[in-house]
Amino acid sequence: MADHPLRGLPSVDTLLSEPLAAGLVKRHGRPATLTAIRAALASARGRGVAEGPEALLAEAARLLGRPPSLRPALNATGVVVHTNLGRAPLAAAAVERAAAVASGYSNLEYDLEAGARGSRHLHLAAILAELTGSEDGMAVNNNAAAVMLALAALAGGREVPISRGELIEVGDGFRIPEVLAQSGARLVEVGSTNRTRIGDYARVLGPETAAVLRVHQSNFRMVGFTEAPSLDELCALAAEHGVPVIDDLGSGQLIDLPDLADEPTARSSVEAGATVVCFSGDKLLGGPQAGIIVGAAEAVARIRRHPLARAVRIDKLSLAALEATLELYRDPARALREVPVLRAVAEPADAVRERAERLAARLGGAVVPTTARVGGGAVPLLELESFACALDGGDGLAAALRAGEPPVVARVQEGRVLLDCRTLTDEECLRISL
Ligand SMILES: *Cc1c(COP(=O)(O)O)cnc(C)c1O
Repeated sequence: MADHPLRGLPSVDTLLSEPLAAGLVKRHGRPATLTAIRAALASARGRGVAEGPEALLAEAARLLGRPPSLRPALNATGVVVHTNLGRAPLAAAAVERAAAVASGYSNLEYDLEAGARGSRHLHLAAILAELTGSEDGMAVNNNAAAVMLALAALAGGREVPISRGELIEVGDGFRIPEVLAQSGARLVEVGSTNRTRIGDYARVLGPETAAVLRVHQSNFRMVGFTEAPSLDELCALAAEHGVPVIDDLGSGQLIDLPDLADEPTARSSVEAGATVVCFSGDKLLGGPQAGIIVGAAEAVARIRRHPLARAVRIDKLSLAALEATLELYRDPARALREVPVLRAVAEPADAVRERAERLAARLGGAVVPTTARVGGGAVPLLELESFACALDGGDGLAAALRAGEPPVVARVQEGRVLLDCRTLTDEECLRISL
């Protein structure tokens, strides 16, 4: 048996009879304590060391006190939508809505008026129509799924022309040509990497064309000798041929912010005539992970009915948080105040500097100017004026901050740790200790 005392290790029963073990049983329960004691014994056995009861129970206590694998962390990187750090923190209203729906039953797929089965895909139709000017709208698990589903439902098995300048990789190996292949549509390359004209599209549109795909260059920009038709031109041409246009906005946004003019709003794409517009819920929008699909009623209805819609459906917690986030956008000034991503992007540099000064005074650091970024593949060229608390101590201090509670993720630059205050709130700063 695995519990046999090897190389002088005490038995499980001996360890359980120690006073320290009684304390662990009281705090964590007997089954969890037993598991931890066995794990501590197995580890000692594996290392071939005959540890005494004290060391073994200390290890068991450490295992029992281990923080969860996924847990809150502080983002001191200055990258607002940080893909590795969970992207968008939610607005308080979104957290409250998700908690309310999570703690009980809900009308997720129930029509309360009719007293009959309903659809989760209908909850957002009205508010998305209101915010984007579209006829209909829905959300799925993420934007990668939204694009894949839209292609599968509207273009499966047939041709989809796309500019060579838009055959991009978004990150994590999400490459447009591969997504197209997975959806069952056939890619038709149009134009060249830097220049694609409306005439290039006109030449390839034909009876086999199912839809035209346009992809926003989310994480890079091309400068110099470049050309691309406007979305209006593209939609007019597609309409002549009776084919839909699918516009993947990537981040997308719902309100016009001067600093973020590079990121089109969903409304501008709808107004230009795109049949279907896809964008992320947790990039600049600042909501939960989700992919939003808005557009013409007939196209969205076909997308809802496609079998893949079930495989990529959004869960009720994200749906609840997304609806609450969207409601904030009914009043753009309120969205700017309450959606954390927008607040971080729009906060005046002076306020960020003052926060950095308070943090530096408390931790004994110096205030330095930095450049923060939106991140998440949105407005890659935009440099946000920011300030950090700089601390002496390089990779060692950065590792210690990551090991703290809460963990703090910071940048190391020229041997100093920079705590960028554009992505930290006042309350979070107070929780950082050295
Ligand atoms: C980010 C992005 C996606 C994928 O969105 P997720 O929400 O991460 O799945 C797709 N297309 C473009 C252009 C993007 O920028």
